[in-house]
Amino acid sequence: MKLEAVLSRLRAGDKLHMQLVDGARVWWFEGPWETVPSSVADRLKAAGDIAELGDSLFGITGNSQSWAIGGGVADRVACSVPHCRRTRRALPDLITVERGDYADGDTVTTDIAEEWICADHWRAIPPATRQLHAAAKRKAKRVKTLMALLVFLRVWNRAKRQAIEGAAGI
Ligand SMILES: [Zn+2]
Repeated sequence: MKLEAVLSRLRAGDKLHMQLVDGARVWWFEGPWETVPSSVADRLKAAGDIAELGDSLFGITGNSQSWAIGGGVADRVACSVPHCRRTRRALPDLITVERGDYADGDTVTTDIAEEWICADHWRAIPPATRQLHAAAKRKAKRVKTLMALLVFLRVWNRAKRQAIEGAAGI
């Protein structure tokens, strides 16, 4: 399928499906079934023309099984604290890990910079969490295991929750 044909099906409300097969992403539409080259899907993702619906294994970003038309804003990342107006240019920081026992040889790639907390809100996070965050990130990049990635994502969620609580003055 060509890019324009994919976009017109997305605009009509069709969902794009994605699955990892032998470590590669396979994309398709259903009813009528049409395969979408990963090069086309990657271009749509990079442009923010498609957004994932969050139904991924382990909730890891970038790995949803369903994608729909996006807002075209993927080139900017907003601060994760609600109502904060700060944004920065999207700078993907991809980590690829082995899925291990779940499916031998399969890998999961996620963009750990998909979410961001601005400098002001980052300062509201307790130093212990910030140190844990830095250590968990270093470890995930070094050992490249699913477990290390899941630990990093847990620490990130804690940091985000504390930034949001800090912003609310709790
Ligand atoms: Zn902020």
